[in-house]
Amino acid sequence: MTLNIPFDNSYARLPAQLFSLQNPVPVKAPKLIAFNHSLANDLGITADDDEALAQVFAGNQTPDGATPLAQLYAGHQFGHWNPQLGDGRAVLLGETVGPIGRRDIQLKGAGRTPYSRGGDGRAWLGPVLREYVISEAMHALGIPTTRALAAVETGETVIRERALPGAVLTRVASSHIRVGSFQVLAARKDLDGLRALYEYAVDRHYPQTQSPVEFLNAVATAQAELVVKWLSVGFIHGVMNTDNCAISGETIDYGPCAFMDDFHPMTVFSSIDHQRRYAYSNQPDIIVWNMAQLATSLVPLMPDQDDAVASFTAAVHAIPAQIQRLWNAAFSAKIGLQSSQEGDHALITDLLELMANQGADFTNTFRTLATGKARDQFHDPLAFDIWHERLQRRVVPEADPKAVILATNPAIIPRNHHVEAMIVAATDGNFAPFHRLNDALSRPFEERSEVIDLTQPPQQNERVHQTFCGT
Ligand code: AMP
Ligand code: MG
Repeated sequence: MTLNIPFDNSYARLPAQLFSLQNPVPVKAPKLIAFNHSLANDLGITADDDEALAQVFAGNQTPDGATPLAQLYAGHQFGHWNPQLGDGRAVLLGETVGPIGRRDIQLKGAGRTPYSRGGDGRAWLGPVLREYVISEAMHALGIPTTRALAAVETGETVIRERALPGAVLTRVASSHIRVGSFQVLAARKDLDGLRALYEYAVDRHYPQTQSPVEFLNAVATAQAELVVKWLSVGFIHGVMNTDNCAISGETIDYGPCAFMDDFHPMTVFSSIDHQRRYAYSNQPDIIVWNMAQLATSLVPLMPDQDDAVASFTAAVHAIPAQIQRLWNAAFSAKIGLQSSQEGDHALITDLLELMANQGADFTNTFRTLATGKARDQFHDPLAFDIWHERLQRRVVPEADPKAVILATNPAIIPRNHHVEAMIVAATDGNFAPFHRLNDALSRPFEERSEVIDLTQPPQQNERVHQTFCGT
């Protein structure tokens, strides 16, 4: 076989209660849909045989050096504590150490594990391609994220509301350690396991930190930076449960996530988010909530519990101001400002209010601020014109606001109606829209005439109102 993956499996060397050794369950007829060669290069993986890739990334052949395992974790789901979750449909093959450093290679949809509970351990083609496209688009947008290395059809059907084609996604992450990975050990009062995971996470992600509080601060900073990046492109994660919150600060778990078309701060797409807990503009508060759960799990590691609670409380209370500072900088850049002045915050929020009132397209409004066409996004352009005069007065001393706008605001995002159309086509065996969408989204800051259709907001009849979990 002509596939070489340079494995070094450090997670498998952690205490045994943190995972279960588990081989992927083979599938009937693996067929490669996509393999991300440029990512493979970055990982140090060499491959030149599609048949070998299909076998390995479907889980039918365990590559040399892998130690397949399912990780244990718990989590708060929509605010409710669930004492045991874990990889119920995913298997970590191991970690590669290549040019970009240590990365997890995980098969998602690889069959049942000890953590599957009632599930079948499988994934269907739709969510696999959705995650492939959106996670790679996020990477191209410069947003920390897990990546997609491969997608394989299984030749089996998966029963959901109906019989659907099965698939396996190979996910690459700088690790799969979640807030919930700490929570499960703290809840079980497994101090040895907790300490081992903490030391491992420090070493792997934040070696500069010297204490659990410094570690919390580092994770919170990464999460604050992440959520502001989400807000700045109109991304709604959809299931920000603590088990879907990575210590590394990468976006993880592309379930019912979606990008907004017309701007509204309380937008929700997920079919199961009835309370709007994970609405677009609630996301910063949820990060703080999740970091409070991480802090709670780290308290037992501190020598003096009372001091620990006081220090962690102060650290968590500092997060909202940090997010606000990052937000101000990000949204200033979106309107072309590189410095900050009194009044900028109002300038930004007034634009957002105008956009919300008029249902202006989030992506295209910001992008066209550079070309003078933004007023076309508003059905009452006069209100926009008044705002734009304020911006003009403000930008006079600035250096090249147009260049800042074009470098900050993408021309193209994965719009829901295009993602859904791509899934419908693929379910019928046509993968051309999948490949086209991937290509279009790989250079999001360029305007390319051949993909202009993919930059258009949906017509009324094309609108996607709901998205579903990736199970
Ligand atoms: P998620 O919604 O992807 O964050 O998943 C939440 C939990 O449900 C995790 O423990 C998953 O492993 C588990 N899960 C989701 N789908 C399946 C499935 N088809 N089979 C088994 N477990 C699943
Ligand atoms: Mg999850």
